[in-house]
Amino acid sequence: MQKLIQGHKRFLTEVFPDKKSHFHLLAEGQSPEWLFITCADSRVLPDLILGTEPGDLFIARSIGNVVPVTSQDVDGVTATIEYAVEVLKVRHAIICGHSDCGALKAAINHKSLENLPKARRWLDHVEEAFAHKQPLNPADGDSAELAALIRGNVVAQIKNLRAQPAVQHALAEDRLTVHGWYYDILTGRIEEYDERLKRFVGLVA
Ligand SMILES: [Zn+2]
Repeated sequence: MQKLIQGHKRFLTEVFPDKKSHFHLLAEGQSPEWLFITCADSRVLPDLILGTEPGDLFIARSIGNVVPVTSQDVDGVTATIEYAVEVLKVRHAIICGHSDCGALKAAINHKSLENLPKARRWLDHVEEAFAHKQPLNPADGDSAELAALIRGNVVAQIKNLRAQPAVQHALAEDRLTVHGWYYDILTGRIEEYDERLKRFVGLVA
């Protein structure tokens, strides 16, 4: 825990004073422009890779960056989406998958979930990834199969996102755009799913 306490001390002395007026403004409320739905993976740091600040991203995280559609129960991700779209009125919703994702590894090797009843049920929602698996990219090397499936999961979750009632409502009113991204931990690069070309292309040329 010492690492965290030291880190917080540094935040209070070095970071917070510089951003004080920004934080004071934010203390009154938030109006984030982007809903960012990503994996719980510790290697995905949205603010770091996007240069965003407090107040910018409204974030929903879960293993496998899943948007459940079949579950009858309420869940944290869809409740977060509903709030972001209906109350905060975010302009963009982004699903961001990432390389080396354990959720998709588990979808390939079910055995790894044997003693994880909750994770196993949650990850039923990534099964659709197989139906949307993307073409292999030689640049992904030995991980090409996994990466193609992770990209497929992004496409599957875009579909699930679009099926959310709040999202349908916002899309009909033309006040929301949906995006699908793949973040490569090794290169730091983000790819965006081009729905017209039906493939992933670099976010930055
Ligand atoms: Zn992951």
